[in-house]
Parts: sequence; C-alpha cells; structure tokens
Amino acid sequence: MNLPVVPNVIAGGMSGTAGPDPLLVHNPATGEAIAQVAAATADEAEAAIQAADQAFRSWSEVSLGRRAAVLFKLRELLAGSADELAAIVSREQGKVISDAKGEVARGLEVVDFACGIPQLLKGEYSPQVASGVDVASWREPLGVTVGVTPFNFPVMVPLWMSPVAIATGNAFILKPSPLDPSASVKLAELWRRAGLPDGVFQVLHGGPDVVGRLLTHPLVKAVSFVGSTPVARQIHVTAVGAGKRVQALGGAKNHAIVLADSDAEFAADSVVAAAFGAAGQRCMALSVALVQESVADEFIARVVDKAKAMTVSVGTDPAVDMGPMVSARARDRAEEIIGAAAAAGAKVALDGRGSRPAGFERGFFTGPTVLDAVQPSMSAYTEEIFGPVLAVVRIKDLDEGIDLINANPYGNGTALFTASGAAARRFERRVQVGMIGINVPIPVPVGFHSFGGWKDSLIGDFHIYGPEGVAFYTQAKVATRRWPEPSQRPEASFNFGDRTT
Ligand code: NAD
Repeated sequence: MNLPVVPNVIAGGMSGTAGPDPLLVHNPATGEAIAQVAAATADEAEAAIQAADQAFRSWSEVSLGRRAAVLFKLRELLAGSADELAAIVSREQGKVISDAKGEVARGLEVVDFACGIPQLLKGEYSPQVASGVDVASWREPLGVTVGVTPFNFPVMVPLWMSPVAIATGNAFILKPSPLDPSASVKLAELWRRAGLPDGVFQVLHGGPDVVGRLLTHPLVKAVSFVGSTPVARQIHVTAVGAGKRVQALGGAKNHAIVLADSDAEFAADSVVAAAFGAAGQRCMALSVALVQESVADEFIARVVDKAKAMTVSVGTDPAVDMGPMVSARARDRAEEIIGAAAAAGAKVALDGRGSRPAGFERGFFTGPTVLDAVQPSMSAYTEEIFGPVLAVVRIKDLDEGIDLINANPYGNGTALFTASGAAARRFERRVQVGMIGINVPIPVPVGFHSFGGWKDSLIGDFHIYGPEGVAFYTQAKVATRRWPEPSQRPEASFNFGDRTT
C-alpha cells in the first residue's frame, strides 16, 4: 500500500512499518484512506518502556527551573503551531478548523498550569513538632507513566496528561487513537524542539495488544485513560491488578435542564452548540435536554430552526458549522439509534439521516437530529450515541430533572438553564455529576482546576490535570528530622507516641 506511514516515536527516533494488515486512517469528510499506522510491535513497546525508564532517571533530577523552561518553550511552540495542529486534527478527525483550534487552546491551558511546576511542587514544613524535631513533606515523580487517549480530542486529551506528568518529573508514553494518530507525532516533535530529552515523551501506536503490554509492564507505574466506559473499566481492572495507579475516564450522557424561567434564546443557542458542535463527538456534549413542559414546544421549535440553519460539510471550509462523524461505523450506529427511537414512538423533529454534502458524498456525515418525546427506556436515551443527536425529554419541574440525571449511570457533565439562584443552588447541591454548568453548556474546568466525572464517567480516584493531576503523577514523601546538639541529646524512649518533649 502506498499510503504514508504514521510512525512510532521511540527514544527520539521515528520507527515502524505498517504490517500486511495495517490500521488505516481515513479522512472522514471524503471517506478516503489517507495514511496507515505503524502499530508498535512487542519489541518496539519494550524499547519505548526501557527508553522511558532511562530517561526518567535523569529527567527527574533536572531542576524545577529547567523543567519549567521546557514547559514555557512548549507553550510558545504549541501556540505557534495551532494552525498546523488544527489542520491535522480536522483532516483525520473531521471537526471544523475553529473547533480544532479551540481544542489546542484548551490543551494549552494545561501547559500554562504546568509552567508553574516549581510552585506546584512546593512541599510543607513543620518546625519543632517535638523538641528539636522538624518534619518536611514533598512529592516525587512515579517513573514511567502511560496515556491512552480517544479519537475525539487528539491534541487536547494528550495535553490533559503529558504536561503534568512530565513537569512533575515522570516519563510519559502516549498511545493515541489509531483513527487520528498524526497529531501525537507532531506533539512529540514540539516536545523535542522545546528541549525535552529523548525518551521522556514517546508515542506508540496500535490497538488493544499494545495497550495490554503497557498496562502490565513492571516498569510502568501509572496509567491515564480517556475513552469509552467499557474500555475504561477493563483498563482499570487490568492495570490496578498489576499494581498500577490508574485514572480511567469513561463515556457520558450529559443532560441539560431547561427551566421555564430561563432566557429561551440563550438556552436554545447554548444547547444547539453543545449538542451538535464537533458532530456531538465531545465527552461533554449535551445529548439530552430535559425541558420544562410549559416551554417545551417553543424550545424545540427554536432548536430545530437553529439546527436547520447549520452548514454541514468538510471541516476545513471556514463557512461550515459541523463536520462529519469519525467513521462510517459511528455514523451508521447513530442513524440506527435514531431509527429505533422513531420506531419506539419518539418524534423526529429534525432528521439528519442521509446527509450527503455536495462534493463529499462519500464522507461519514449525518446531520443534526432532534428527537422529541424521548422516553428513558429508549436506546436514544440509554446509549451514548456520540453523534449529533439531541434527545428531548419533557419534565414537570427541576426535581424530576435532577432525579432523571441521578438515575443515569453516567455523571460527567450537566448544565442548568435558569434565572433562579435558588434553583441553581438546589441543582448544584443535589445532582450526582462531577462537572456542573449554570447557564454554561459545556462546563469543562479551566486548566488550574481538575476535570472529572462521577459514576461510570470516571473509574479511579483522581480527576485529570490541575491539582489532582499533580497528585496523580506524584507520590508523597515525608521526613522527620532531628539534628541534636550534644547538650540536647534526648533520652532514649520506648514510648512510641511521645511528641510532647
Ligand atoms: P475507545 O474506548 O474506543 O478508545 C480509547 C482508546 O483506547 C484508544 O486509544 C483505543 O485504541 C484504545 N482501546 C480501544 N479498545 C481497547 C481495548 N479493548 N483495550 C485497550 N485499549 C483499547 O474510545 P473512542 O471511541 O476513541 O473515544 C470516544 C469515547 O471516549 C466516548 O465514550 C467518549 O465519551 C469518551 N471520552 C471521554 C472523555 C472524558 O473526559 N470522560 C473525554 C473524551 C472522550
């Protein structure tokens, strides 16, 4: 096959040939195969892990100031490469260029955070906890860390992990999605140009077999995963069983509640953008609108009008609002679920099935779809569709909406549209979800807070990036010190608990 090969990045070198049955990368707008992936062999995975372990030994000894300097340089290079990265993302993932640039910007926020690593790693010190005794505590890196990332944010999600892992002194191996692997190779180039030593950031491509090798290897100390819940669960069980620290972020079914007192135009605009942006392929997409009955007809009419006005075509065209889905399989699955909802009695208020933009008839498109009168028993409600499909459920009041959200197995994000502070407060207090928006449709926390859902949306103890990212990639050490002067030498004591002298 004559397609270009997306290489692994191991110890600073590009390596790998695509095997006889290669993983293919498609341009989702045209449906064409545009590249093939060099899935890492067992030897290549071993070489990367060994190189990471070697690199960790010296990188973890590099001064905090020097580490911060690499992060600052990476920041500058990423900002300067935003257009190029966005073009790579749009070509392989399908999203529109402006959204792909937004993804780079959100990743940059985590780099900004990691630039402050000297401050973030400041320890604690308690002088004179007993007579002549002082205690210091601080955090140290773990060693070789691994990130396994999904197709939908090929720049942002690796940047949720790697800047914090590396700034705290670890080595990091990225296993990106084989659907859109090229951005990860560009990230490796930028890390290298920023002055990061070879082996500290590496890329291994492939599928479950490559991941399996990383999860159980004795030199790997921590695994960050972002992807679907079934895989998150499997990765968590395997890696925890092998003694690793694991954060495994899973899927989502994010609900918005639209109350009758909300600003109708603003709520409709927000829900349309959050349901159909990136063709609904965001883990924080709003895929369910729980709308108070008294305003439901009006809300749906507004949403349908706005969604109909969206331009659907190739993401590299600046006039386009929504690109294709990532694969023919993902599109076909979404369209099947729409069909099943219609057959089960939902009203298809806007039907995006069969969308074929002119000039891109072979692309993986489905248009914005609005399903009214969805029942919680329908697959359009229970399944994460991960496509441009908004399910509308009519509710009588806020409490019914909160009960529905809390009954859902996912708990990633949620949003409330209201003019009432009391309703917002009740919602924040009662809802069983990790990230909450009050009149904010996609409440992804800024880089200096941490990101994470509840329930099936995150398996593990730590949220990602921000302060929880620092805690995840480091382990605590505490020293209790005494430097007795000869005249103050204490009596030997058999009393373990004596802190009073
Ligand atoms: P996925 O679970 O299919 O794949 C994620 C990664 O895991 C990829 O690198 C893939 O190659 C690898 N993988 C797949 N199957 C595996 C297996 N059996 N063993 C080991 N590794 C395996 O997810 P996806 O389709 O790439 O991404 C979409 C999913 O990611 C959605 O469910 C979405 O909600 C979720 N997501 C969640 C968040 C979050 O923050 N919670 C963010 C982005 C995406």
